[in-house]
Amino acid sequence: GKKVVIGGNWKCNGTKESVKELIETLNSAGDFPSNAEVVVAPTALHLGMAVDGLRKDISVSVQNLWKEPKAGAWTGELTVDLIKDFGINWAILGHSERRAYCGETPEIVGTKVKIALEAGMKVMACIGEQLSDREADKTMDVCKEQLDPIIAAVPSGAMDRVVIAYEPVWAIGTGVTATPEQAQETHEQIRAYLKTKIGEEAAQGVRIIYGGSVKGANCQELIKKADIDGFLVGGASLKPEFKDIIACSS
Ligand code: 13P
Repeated sequence: GKKVVIGGNWKCNGTKESVKELIETLNSAGDFPSNAEVVVAPTALHLGMAVDGLRKDISVSVQNLWKEPKAGAWTGELTVDLIKDFGINWAILGHSERRAYCGETPEIVGTKVKIALEAGMKVMACIGEQLSDREADKTMDVCKEQLDPIIAAVPSGAMDRVVIAYEPVWAIGTGVTATPEQAQETHEQIRAYLKTKIGEEAAQGVRIIYGGSVKGANCQELIKKADIDGFLVGGASLKPEFKDIIACSS
């Protein structure tokens, strides 16, 4: 079957010292379950430390990339060719914090997904509604609006390199996790929508991972659900607890 993806999004956190410690903790975590694909996304400053220091069964991801593919006069940015040259093959794209604070529209996210996939990278494309959307029964409307440009951006044959990260904004960093039932319900609806777009078989193969206050204490109930194929973890990915979340996929 498909592998479970356990992603750690470190966001804008970490010191040289704390990153060194976290790398040591993960490196000494023992064998991971054979069906776990583990990916961590440090800040741009810490990418080198992670690539050089982490055990080889942990992949490294960027948290963003530039909307043009080639290096050049893009002050402050990282292009996909630089990222690949560094040996990095994963990108988190369209995170709700970038949508909210950096003006990333669904179209920009689609462009970035296309650039990453055309360069052979794997992508965790993030979608998710705000609390007001959920309360207005617009969860799937928002998810579809965000999904459409992502799906349209996938070159033929590249869908197996796309992971959809469903991260309800109200659950991010709040300690309020979606219940397993709430998460499963939306994951199921996302997969049903994918079926209408890319067909039954391809949609079954897509990993749909959940993000939003995932912890060691709630991951086991979430991962039991049929359409939850892993996690994108924020706060808890900075702690030794991340090992327990990786272990729950066994
Ligand atoms: P938290 O796990 O801190 O809620 O963050 C989730 C997230 O945004 C991962 O990308």
